[in-house]
Amino acid sequence: MKTARLYSFGDIRIEDMPVPSPGPGEALMKTMASGICSGDLMPWYIEKKAPLVLGHEPSGVIVRTGSGVEDFFAEGDRVSVHHHAPCMDRENCPFCKKGQFVHCSTWKSSSLIPGGISEYILIPAVNLMHDTLKLPEPLSFEDGVLVEPLGCVLKGLRRAGLPAKNAISVFVIGLGVMGILHILALKAFGVKGENIIGADTVPFRLEKALRLGAGRVVDVSREDPVQAVKKITGGQMADLVIAGPNSVRAMHTALETAGPGGKVVLFTPAKPGEVLSIDPNDIYFREVSLIPSYSTGPEDTRAALAMINGGHVRADMVVTHRFPIGETQEAYRLAARAADSLKVLISF
Ligand SMILES: [Zn+2]
Ligand SMILES: [Zn+2]
Repeated sequence: MKTARLYSFGDIRIEDMPVPSPGPGEALMKTMASGICSGDLMPWYIEKKAPLVLGHEPSGVIVRTGSGVEDFFAEGDRVSVHHHAPCMDRENCPFCKKGQFVHCSTWKSSSLIPGGISEYILIPAVNLMHDTLKLPEPLSFEDGVLVEPLGCVLKGLRRAGLPAKNAISVFVIGLGVMGILHILALKAFGVKGENIIGADTVPFRLEKALRLGAGRVVDVSREDPVQAVKKITGGQMADLVIAGPNSVRAMHTALETAGPGGKVVLFTPAKPGEVLSIDPNDIYFREVSLIPSYSTGPEDTRAALAMINGGHVRADMVVTHRFPIGETQEAYRLAARAADSLKVLISF
């Protein structure tokens, strides 16, 4: 089977590997679609893991099952698989007990074999049991690819208190696929378009955000985002700000555009060692909360699947490019250019 292995940012090779065979509790999936993740486009992040088989947003069909899974999965099941799964031992695991799945040691050590951009994927027992979701009939494999990224979005929004009881205004910084998924999720949570402001520098992405539900957009290559948000909100600033880009500058903008009592979701890390300076006097008196949100877990992936199934989010809204596995390097380069693209997929 073919797999796409990254050695460095500009060196992704297509390599042959034997098809793995599932042991007890495991399953083999034939991959049908696999997403290029925005997070994997940060060179410092992905290269520290290299060499690795890229990708962690696959969907496909179960083609073989190991013993002991017959009550849960069968050949022919269409599934979306999360590459990390927690132990779900609610009695003994200090993190699963509290629903903080990404801190569970099983979650951290679990992974798909050999990775997401591979013609076949071995789903280990823990992933199969706790975070492999069957795709309801109307959903496509491409819809299935969105479960993990949308799960990350829903986790961040949940940590920020959404769905909210009162009307809130939201400023979404960065309108790549993750920013757009935020806008779609906010709409699904009942936030009115007129209260959603997006920011980016790419005209294609600004237009896409307007078409998919943002009431206003700010081109930060022309306009100062702090002044723009001030003007649009009549001086109130935003109740919630999503800091999407992995730049300290964008994180600063997020803190400045949050209004009194506002919240900032830190959706992306910065490079290790980079420092975000915070004025405690300012955030104390303005009561601005900074809420980091890393990855996702079984509860949010299920919520994501329900939101996709409800039609609020679909692949045709955000998938802009599809490549065969042999062109993974091109796909990766295109996604990294962050221009006229949103979700870039490898299609099998
Ligand atoms: Zn991802
Ligand atoms: Zn656990």
